[in-house]
Amino acid sequence: MNDPLRRFVDVWSRVPGIGTRLAERIGLFVLGQSKEYAQRLAEAILVLREQTSICEVCGNFSLGSRCAICEDGSRDSSILCVVETPLDIVYIEATGKYHGLYHVLGGVISPIHGITPGKLRIEELVQRVHAGTVKEVFFATSPTTEGDATVMYIRERLSSLSLRFTTLARGVPVGVVLPQTGTQTLSEAIVSREELK
Ligand SMILES: [Zn+2]
Repeated sequence: MNDPLRRFVDVWSRVPGIGTRLAERIGLFVLGQSKEYAQRLAEAILVLREQTSICEVCGNFSLGSRCAICEDGSRDSSILCVVETPLDIVYIEATGKYHGLYHVLGGVISPIHGITPGKLRIEELVQRVHAGTVKEVFFATSPTTEGDATVMYIRERLSSLSLRFTTLARGVPVGVVLPQTGTQTLSEAIVSREELK
């Protein structure tokens, strides 16, 4: 392997889901394309990173200091949907069944992996709910032990407030992470979301 290709494979193989073999195939694909295509590919990566920031309110991807959803005055500010990543918002928005606001945690509490509550955007969530107009906190986090522990921790932090806590319907077979759930299934899980007792 020549040096430029090795360098290419080195950076691409770090992308989740892309190992060395796939990185090599992408490299060979790029070598088979025009220089103009290679330029567009490189520019698209740079522009994506340079022009995208994180919304100061909810943690979603944003083009400015606030994302389009937080800026949208027609959204229902009495419901806050708690998700793990900005990508989860993309999947929930695709269903068209949710019209409230979001809060991105950045993951779930996982002591084994060194993810303590302080490493997530939980404090921001607690402050936001205390300060705002939220009446319902809707958890769309993973139905795993860690996801459930995170929900319990957040509920405990918000226990002094009179709130409605809901979660994606468990009767609906939602995957470990939202991207693995089909749009139809996710729609059903949102519409028939369950009250947390
Ligand atoms: Zn936002």
